[in-house]
Order: sequence, then structure tokens, then C-alpha cells
Amino acid sequence: MADKDIRVRFAPSPTGALHIGGGHTALFNWLWARHTGGCFILRIEDTDLVRSTKEYEQTIMDGMTWLGLDWDEGPDKGGDYGPYRQSERLDLYRKYAEQLIGEGKAYRDGEAVLFRVEPGQDVSFDDAVYGRVEVMSDALKERDSDKLKDIVIIKSDGMPTYNYAVVVDDHLMAISHVIRGEDHISNTPKQILLYRALGWDVPVFAHLPMILGRDKKKLSKRHGATSVYEYRDMGYMPDSVFNFLALLGWSAGEGHEVFTRAEAASLFELSRVTRKPAVLDPDKMNFINQEHLKRLDPDTRLAMVRPFWEEMGLPVSQVEADRGKDWLAGALTLMEGRGRTAREMAEFSDYFVSFEPVKTRWDGADIAEDRKPGLREFFAAILAEPEWMPEALEARARNWTEERGVKMKDYAMPLRFALTGMKVSPGIFEVAAHLGRDEARRRLEYYGLV
Ligand code: GLU
Repeated sequence: MADKDIRVRFAPSPTGALHIGGGHTALFNWLWARHTGGCFILRIEDTDLVRSTKEYEQTIMDGMTWLGLDWDEGPDKGGDYGPYRQSERLDLYRKYAEQLIGEGKAYRDGEAVLFRVEPGQDVSFDDAVYGRVEVMSDALKERDSDKLKDIVIIKSDGMPTYNYAVVVDDHLMAISHVIRGEDHISNTPKQILLYRALGWDVPVFAHLPMILGRDKKKLSKRHGATSVYEYRDMGYMPDSVFNFLALLGWSAGEGHEVFTRAEAASLFELSRVTRKPAVLDPDKMNFINQEHLKRLDPDTRLAMVRPFWEEMGLPVSQVEADRGKDWLAGALTLMEGRGRTAREMAEFSDYFVSFEPVKTRWDGADIAEDRKPGLREFFAAILAEPEWMPEALEARARNWTEERGVKMKDYAMPLRFALTGMKVSPGIFEVAAHLGRDEARRRLEYYGLV
């Protein structure tokens, strides 16, 4: 199904980190390229020399790499249609501006070059997502006036404007589909006029829906995390950020909310992207992330959680040296389904890595003195269990409590507190079994329960 003629591009301006909107646009371009076997191009639109930096360019590339959006041509990769930075293509913009001037379609105004907008031009277009967009050139007015506004193509500082450079580049880079945010719909008629004046075919335009926060307002800094990296730092995985960005304006099918990159690429259809504004819903993101966390193999899950344990100051390397990597990964396997992000999973499982947080959470003071002899008997029986496995421990606890006609939960709860310092945890006998007899004894002793 490879379609070599399909060429799409993500064209960020390197004036900030990769934000959610940019990631979303990059991702939909990537999906279309990978679905069709076409080519995904990264073009850096750095004509704003004051605000553009190499650092931002690198951050954007790193953000895309983190999301798993690899590109086939770009400033770092090269390709047959370079250079891939607008600042390195100034001679091209100049050349076509001269051509337009020569044909009387553009004129100089001081150092600047302006493109003449003629009235009565039909600049309607069929958007692959929005459908027919009807516009006449007469609508391209000067702000707050009835005067038709000519289009600046080269500014007095010699730099091309966005609307002009994007047309020259999309044409010379043989872009077949321009997939970008809906905020560019209003620029499209101007770009169409320029394509026509230059005698070039117009690509397919596909504008992506606006992304809204939960309050149904356009996504902005007010809504909290806006850069892709903020999600990483909160403990979201690249697979799930990819997944929920893909769900903004597209669906893999009824009830098919959790998917891999490969599944999304195979199912993606540009024609199924909706123009309905898409809401970035934190609950949905958490759900998706949790589902991806559950599906990870133990080693990858450990690699995801580990930095958060370290950030919390827990002695991860020491425990790994003592107990091995598999033991740590095994602790997280016990946690399956708990924690919506890697950060939460790290927080919910800290007691495996250290007893210290347990002590700060629970001081044991809520256990009445007169209950202690009974608890000590119970824990002595548990610690004496020869087969230190969850089932055996649980069977012993059950027999012990049944024989005495007491409630299992009155004994299991203090065990849970002593081992984890938490009210909720995975099965407490599983936790005890994993911690090991010596560690369980040590913790119970600390609370005077042995
Ligand atoms: N540099 C433009 C932006 O970041 C690109 C828009 C386009 O894709 O045409 O919004």
C-alpha cells in the first residue's frame, strides 16, 4: 500500500517547547505518512530570527522522538528536498519574489515585497476534514476597513512571511497533504492565491480540530501542562501520550480506545478525522495511561517507575544491588492496575524500596496496648510458616483466626499498616511474601508486634 507520492510535513517554529497542539499536528502527519507508506518531513520555520533558537529546535525534535514520531527528511537527516530550515532557503524565497515582480503580480514597497490581491477571485477550497470552505478574495480585507489588503511576501528586513514561505516550501518539497491546526484555515485562501500566481498545483488541505480544555475553552497555559515534556515529567508514558493525542479528533473504532502506534497507523484514515473540537480530558488521559502501564512488560515498567523512586530519594540502586532487578520489577507486577501514572505507581509502591516512608506514614500508636498480645501471637504464627508464599501465608492466617473465632481483617489490617503504612495495597500476603520473612519480621519488630 506504499504510496511514495504522499508527502506530509510538520513545520514547527522553534520558538518554544513541543506543546500539545504541535505534538498533535506532528502525530496526525506521522499517522498519515505511516498509514500510506508516504514520507514524513520535518521542516523548521525559523524565519523569526529573534525568537527562534537551536535549543528549541532540539527540544522539539527530542519531544517528537520521545513520542515515537520519527521523520524521514529533516534538518538533521537531510533528504532530496533540503535545506529543511527556512533560514537556509532565503535565496529561494527571493527568486520567486523576483519572478512575481517580473510578472507584475507583486511589487516593491521600500525593502518589502507585496503580492497584489485582485478582487473577485474565488479562493474556496475543499478541506479533507472541514469540507468545502467558501471564500472570495474580496474577504481578504485590511483589518477594520473595506480596503483589500495585499499580502506582504518579503518583509523589509528581507525575511519571507509565513504565508509566502510556506507556499514556496510546500511546493518545492512536493508536499501532497498539508495537515495542520485549524487556526491556519484563515491563512489558506492567501496561500491559494500565491500557488495560483506561481502556477503551482494546490496540495490537499486537512485542518485538524481545535483542542479544548475540560472547560471547553481553547487549550492554553491556564489548563496546566501544555508541553509534551510536562506529561513525561508527571509520569505519563510516551505510548499513552501518543494514544490520547491520536484520540483528539480521531477514533480507531467504537470502543477501541487503547492502542499502539502500529495499530493507530494501520487504522488511521484522514477522512475519519472530525472537525468537532476535541477535549483534552485528564480523566481519559489517566485511564489510557493506566491501561498502557498494565500492558508493559516488567522490565519496561521498572524503567518507567525507577526515575520517580529516585526523585523521591529512595535507595533504588542499593535495593537493586541487594535483591536484584527482577525483584524490583516483581514488586511492580504486584502493583498491576494501581497508579494511573508512573509517578503514582512509584508513590504507591515506595514501601518495597524502603521502610522509611512506612514509618513516617504510620507510627503504630492507634493500636491499643491490650490488643498487642493477640497480635503478637498471630504474627508469631505467620512468621513461623515454613512455606513463605502468599497462599500458604493466607491459609495459615485463615486457620489461625478461624480457630479462635476472630475476624481476619482485624489482624490483616495491622499487618498491612506495618508493612506498607497504607490503608490500601495489593494483597497483603503477596506483599509479605515478596518482602520476605526477614524484612516482614523487621518491620513488625519495629512496631513491637513480634
Ligand atoms: N510554522 C507554522 C506553525 O507553526 C506552520 C503552519 C503550517 O503547517 O502551515 O504554525
